[in-house]
Amino acid sequence: MPLTPAQIPEFINAISAAINQHADEITELDQAIGDGDHLFNLQRGLEALQSHAAEIAALDWPAAWQKIGMTVMAAIGGASGSLYATLFIGLSKHGKDKPTDMRTFAEALQAAVAAVKQRGKADVGEKTMLDVWVPAAETLARAASSGKDLNAILDQVCAAADAGVESTRDMLATKGRASFLGERSKGHIDAGAKTAQLMIAAIARHIRQ
Ligand code: ADP
Ligand code: MG
Ligand code: MG
Repeated sequence: MPLTPAQIPEFINAISAAINQHADEITELDQAIGDGDHLFNLQRGLEALQSHAAEIAALDWPAAWQKIGMTVMAAIGGASGSLYATLFIGLSKHGKDKPTDMRTFAEALQAAVAAVKQRGKADVGEKTMLDVWVPAAETLARAASSGKDLNAILDQVCAAADAGVESTRDMLATKGRASFLGERSKGHIDAGAKTAQLMIAAIARHIRQ
């Protein structure tokens, strides 16, 4: 059964639950090499989405992604706000007038992640959320076009996201606040990479068959 925007409220709740379960860990990570507000930023965004969830659920996918992007943009002040707004607005743009299957979604996600790279002038290897989003999107595209079944696709995407989080540990941060620490940014995983992985895992658990 194809996913529809009617399921968006459940996804928002699943993501909120996963973020809240890891609240202390997320705050500690952003305190270690950032300014400690990443949990609060995401919670504000998720609360805003929860309050618009019914409205978003009634839209088609491109309009729903657009509304999610605009809501996140308005609610989140930090770097993660404009980057996630770019991701969702990118999904909207690249999903227009296309079928809503996994392959099309995977292509749209890759294009949206490319827009995030552009927006933040960052790429893989700089100790950011991109160290999760880039491999997750690439793995999704590869797995979806190989005709694997849904659960196998989800397993591969989650494994790519897990590896992406871990890869940030020994990286030198060259973008965002953590870059101010130079060499001292090494030895900690990136908070934004961790929350990206938590979001991906929560969605995967939710749509697993
Ligand atoms: P702020 O850094 O403004 O306090 P948050 O704490 O909400 O914002 O988000 C920090 C996260 O944003 C970082 O952990 C990192 O993953 C991500 N990030 C920061 N700058 C960039 C960038 N230029 N490109 C991609 N991701 C970034
Ligand atoms: Mg922060
Ligand atoms: Mg901040």
